[in-house]
Amino acid sequence: MAPTRRDFLAASAAAAGALFVPSGVRGSSIPERAVGWLVPREFTEIRRNVGFFTMRGGTIGYLVNDGGVAVVDSQFPEQAQACIEGLSERSGGRPVDVLLNTHHHGDHTAGNVAFRGIARRVVAHAQAEAHMRRPPGGLPPEDQLFPDTTFTDEWSAELGDERIVARHHGRAHTSGDAVITFERANVVHMGDLMFHMRHPVVDAAAGATLRGWIQVLQTTVDTHDDETIYIFGHAGPDYPVTGSGADLLGLRDYLVGVLTFVQAQIEAGRTQDEILAMRDPLVGFEDYGRFGRPGARDPIVVAYREITGA
Ligand SMILES: [Zn+2]
Repeated sequence: MAPTRRDFLAASAAAAGALFVPSGVRGSSIPERAVGWLVPREFTEIRRNVGFFTMRGGTIGYLVNDGGVAVVDSQFPEQAQACIEGLSERSGGRPVDVLLNTHHHGDHTAGNVAFRGIARRVVAHAQAEAHMRRPPGGLPPEDQLFPDTTFTDEWSAELGDERIVARHHGRAHTSGDAVITFERANVVHMGDLMFHMRHPVVDAAAGATLRGWIQVLQTTVDTHDDETIYIFGHAGPDYPVTGSGADLLGLRDYLVGVLTFVQAQIEAGRTQDEILAMRDPLVGFEDYGRFGRPGARDPIVVAYREITGA
């Protein structure tokens, strides 16, 4: 991956002292061949002891305060190890009180193994836990630290002066998505409920639905406020992995746009093959770029199946 504008901004912020890079990582726990020279390790403070970590995989959220340490998602084992080392520096070597998984996908949970013996609890939606053990359409992991605490609607805990709430609002990116709110910081980790200016992965085999996703984004915005800062699982090149409720409504509108587009093609009499072959950017959403190859997790493919019941 080539350096992006975000890397440049991060480097500028690092120079200004807004970030830190864990020391002793390069060459010790992380082989360079595994991560490459151009993959940045970034810790970015957001507000009131909550921040995010980016390296490779879905964005990790974290809280380090006088009462403990919480982590949201775990990327891959090497990246999780780098994150743990950096958080340990920040917390003075405290264990992690709770690791939360926003959903089961490997780029958010494969790093759980690095938290073995470090995280006191691992929390996820019950369906995410089931999918971690038996990924729909995939192989079970050889080694994994699975959630020991699951919920179906809501889970919450106090940690120091912060309150963490995990909520499930229904099927969207998968059938086991959690929205994680740090209430007093007013920061929310969206996991892969947010792909910022980038075509989303729609894992229909794991229960994803575009119509459900539209509702979940609306509900999430309705249950937070104008000051809320959201952490996104992924973002397009040159777009930040944090933003506002307006960005959530932007993805909501894109998902509505995909369904509307496919519906219009069906009504115009186009065949399934013709519709699935349409890869040009969606009118009004050109910044998302062309659609990728029409696989099972492609928005157009899922939209077609949702509309036709095929
Ligand atoms: Zn995902």
